[in-house]
Amino acid sequence: MNDGGAEYAKIGIGRSTVLVISASGNINNPGVYEIEMGITVDEFIFSDQYCGGITNGKRLKACVPGGSSVPILPDYLVCKTATGEDRLMTYESLSDGGFATGSMLGSGGFIVYDENQCIVRNTWNFSRFYHHESCGQCSPCREGTGWMEKVLHRLEKGMGNMGDMDLLVDVAKKIEGNTICPLGDAAAWPIAAAIRHFRHEFEYHVLHPEKVKDPKHGYREPIMPKAPSAVTA
Ligand code: SF4
Repeated sequence: MNDGGAEYAKIGIGRSTVLVISASGNINNPGVYEIEMGITVDEFIFSDQYCGGITNGKRLKACVPGGSSVPILPDYLVCKTATGEDRLMTYESLSDGGFATGSMLGSGGFIVYDENQCIVRNTWNFSRFYHHESCGQCSPCREGTGWMEKVLHRLEKGMGNMGDMDLLVDVAKKIEGNTICPLGDAAAWPIAAAIRHFRHEFEYHVLHPEKVKDPKHGYREPIMPKAPSAVTA
């Protein structure tokens, strides 16, 4: 403020200047950081100045860069875009590729997942939150968040079927853009993205119910994302 708007605008890249971001999950230095935007996501996750890398030397599995409502990114799209560019901590770079291969910086709630975390369980947990928060004013959100939570719950508990993933995507599409406030979109996007990038993990829950009935299955049964060629819009 002392130096004026022109000086402030020199910070960062374009409209991405300074951001207060909260980093959590499987990282060595969880906390709230004020960053000059434009550093790479790789630097933010792995440098000691910020997140300090993945706990216990494990591999990065996924990242939700902007809070629970934004699309989750699998490991190969976290630090690089689909075209191989370094992913930057900017609004533009994190959304590069749209929802097919990108995400959003959203509210700056940066969550990191190591190789042992269960994406189905995480998605179910997000859906519980949005179902709980739905005020019930409009039908797609009131009913849809509840249906999605129920379907995700049965998948996570090893009681789902192979049609559940398409059912979830269908319900998410019917909520998206059809509600009074953005909570409907916020509930739909993370579920659609989790199935887009980790469908094989949802299928694993259907095919191996005896393994996923153990509530700690995510810790014992690493299920890694497929290669980048598996990405579909
Ligand atoms: S979308 Fe917003 S207004 Fe509609 S039910 Fe959900 S929380 Fe309420």
